[in-house]
Amino acid sequence: MRLRDCRGGGLMSFDYNVLVIDPTTQQPIGACDHQQSFERYVCDFNDFKTLHYAGNTALNMRAPINGTDMVRMWISEEEVRQNDPTYGWTIVRDPARLDAVNATDQFYKVMFVKPVRLVVPLIEVSYLTSQGYCLKCSAIGFLNDFKNASSGSFVRVTQQVKLAQKGLKWVLTSQCAFYPTFVCPLKSYVGKKLGIQLTDTDIQNAVQTALSTMQRVQQAQNTVQVLDPLEMIKDIQYVTAQVAADDPTTIQVGAMITTFSGTSVPLSFQMMVNN
Ligand SMILES: [Zn+2]
Repeated sequence: MRLRDCRGGGLMSFDYNVLVIDPTTQQPIGACDHQQSFERYVCDFNDFKTLHYAGNTALNMRAPINGTDMVRMWISEEEVRQNDPTYGWTIVRDPARLDAVNATDQFYKVMFVKPVRLVVPLIEVSYLTSQGYCLKCSAIGFLNDFKNASSGSFVRVTQQVKLAQKGLKWVLTSQCAFYPTFVCPLKSYVGKKLGIQLTDTDIQNAVQTALSTMQRVQQAQNTVQVLDPLEMIKDIQYVTAQVAADDPTTIQVGAMITTFSGTSVPLSFQMMVNN
């Protein structure tokens, strides 16, 4: 995404981090912690103890709790500790829940220790849940969205992360009316019939060609404008395209490129085809 920088008036690039693994820490990027923040609850008006999910009061907790130590509660924006003398609370098993994603999912409910007769207080609960119930990542397990820096503005990616983003952009979204040889046909492959209209080798070749084109364009660009060696493709080590073992309509594409600083940048994505 490009935004006009209000301070300098020039164009600045605020980017998605599309790397799967952080090249420095080797940790997955964007993995979701399944933290549910400030979910709203109401107190049962019969026992004055049991919390119900405000969005559906037939439920107690909306989702299973993963780690009871991580549960926190606020009443009218004031944090309430478990051992609070007036509003102390406890977490107990909730066996009467039938809509589990997995049979092994264990539900709990939060209950005040003593009856709490507040008139419509705002009760909020934060906790960790499991992937199948996560509203933060919509149960897909990772966050593929703009990330805010701690300063509040968007993270600005550079170097290997920027190279990975550029590579994926080149492969996935390339279109150019003036230089059709720069266009990667991958988008037009989505939904085609694998084995009849398309093979996994076609996908592999399309990605390989797109990355080679990007490499040549960067080399040409580098003759007139100095590029960061970490933002330039030196070699394309491999490109693979394989039908996913668990789903014949999913092609798992992977590539490894190296930078002029000698580091490796893995790229990967999935695309859907018909079987
Ligand atoms: Zn999640």
